[in-house]
Amino acid sequence: MFENIDKKYLSVTKFFEQIINSNNRSVPNSIILHGPDITAQYYFALLLARGANCSGSKKQDCECQNCRWIRANEHPEILTISKINSKPDGDDSKSVISIKQINMIKDNIVVSSDYHRFFIFCDAEIREKTVDEENKINNFKFLNQQFPGSNKESWIPLGLTNKCFSGIVANALLKSVEEPPDNVTFIFLTENIENIISTIVSRSQVYYVPGECRYNCDYDYLIQLLSDYPNIDRKKAIIISDFLLKYSKDKEKSLTEIVMSIQTYLKDMLKKNTESIYLKQSILKSINNLQETIIMLKSNFKEQTVADEIAYILTK
Ligand SMILES: [Zn+2]
Repeated sequence: MFENIDKKYLSVTKFFEQIINSNNRSVPNSIILHGPDITAQYYFALLLARGANCSGSKKQDCECQNCRWIRANEHPEILTISKINSKPDGDDSKSVISIKQINMIKDNIVVSSDYHRFFIFCDAEIREKTVDEENKINNFKFLNQQFPGSNKESWIPLGLTNKCFSGIVANALLKSVEEPPDNVTFIFLTENIENIISTIVSRSQVYYVPGECRYNCDYDYLIQLLSDYPNIDRKKAIIISDFLLKYSKDKEKSLTEIVMSIQTYLKDMLKKNTESIYLKQSILKSINNLQETIIMLKSNFKEQTVADEIAYILTK
């Protein structure tokens, strides 16, 4: 099911392959996909739904009834739940996922089904796509996967926020997430895991789906590079410095862009860790000091010197 998927998704692809190959016994009840590229998350959610329901070859080009239905986004048991999708009769809410939708799901899952049901929660809008959104969709064009609804061409998947998926509504779903019937999986798509109430997070399998972040730079290399932060041994400074220069050259990204990505990454880390004062102080200090390296770059310091300085800031 995951042939030809870009190598940057390797870790999430591996997890999903394993799930599908174990005859669905290990499809989690609740999954959170997070990261900057919601479009990629949406495709992954549907691929998993296909893998769990495929009665054919389990390959991308499978033509079994389930694969065809899901590809056309018309499978009766694979529902996209958003403020504009899967609205029951009499639900006039247009800006949020509503309690009525949650009740519809609850009514649905008490009845048994021959299929492995998926409820994919996201935000969505009908409008003209930006160039960036168009590109994200084009990355997965080869899947031939349709979007839902009658406005397939202009439907855009977006990440859940606490505005469109409020705590009250999420809580109404909690019991179903906790103890769902067999063969029911909830998937939540979001940029930042903070957008999902902690009670759902703690009951879900969480996967990071890489993508281009605000500074046009994916996070995966930073997750690895900074895995021991703020306790990265100073002895590793040379390795980090060399890595940054090589990465900048290979990916044709300026060091300034890379520094900004590191700052964004650290800011996100700060948001997630409010308890540890030591970590908080380290992050704030690093972010400030990294700002100095941007000034160094503007003042035409040698890249090697700046890369060394960045590595020095990130180690101790
Ligand atoms: Zn199939």
